[in-house]
Amino acid sequence: MNNIAIYPGSFDPITNGHIDLVRRASKIFDKVIVGITQNISKPSFLGIDDRIMSATIALQEIKNIEVLKFDKLLVDFANEHNASVILRGLRAVSDFEYEFQLSGMNKHLNNNIETLFMTPAEQYANISSSLVREILLLGGDISTFVPNSVEDLLKNSI
Ligand code: ADP
Repeated sequence: MNNIAIYPGSFDPITNGHIDLVRRASKIFDKVIVGITQNISKPSFLGIDDRIMSATIALQEIKNIEVLKFDKLLVDFANEHNASVILRGLRAVSDFEYEFQLSGMNKHLNNNIETLFMTPAEQYANISSSLVREILLLGGDISTFVPNSVEDLLKNSI
């Protein structure tokens, strides 16, 4: 049986922290599917196609991954792709409460899918997509937070 994990998120944009997590997970799982949400409840900064494209380019050297969009229940998306694990990143204690609630809800929805948490390398622990967007809009330097390809795309989006 293939060991497949889904790493879901809005990736608006994908950051070096996300990439670090995918790289680590790709060594543990046969395949990691980066599932990018279409954001039915909150508007995104980058459109879904740009988020898919930038993640695909940023992760292109990792061979056992796939970047896909989804607009359904996460557990259904996982099931559809034979994934038995939902992967989430934990940066700080502040992430914990929301992630704990989310994993509990997903267990209620499908008890056969496990949520696993991973932490990034220390230098990525403070990076968040929302802060990257804010720094970008205020004209700050985002080059240490995202790959060059993502930086270029973001600069062309404002
Ligand atoms: P969401 O919109 O679902 O919160 P994000 O795209 O912000 O999705 O993040 C997806 C996942 O990656 C979440 O589990 C989040 O905690 C994790 N994550 C975000 N930034 C980092 C980072 N710098 N290092 C490790 N994990 C991260």
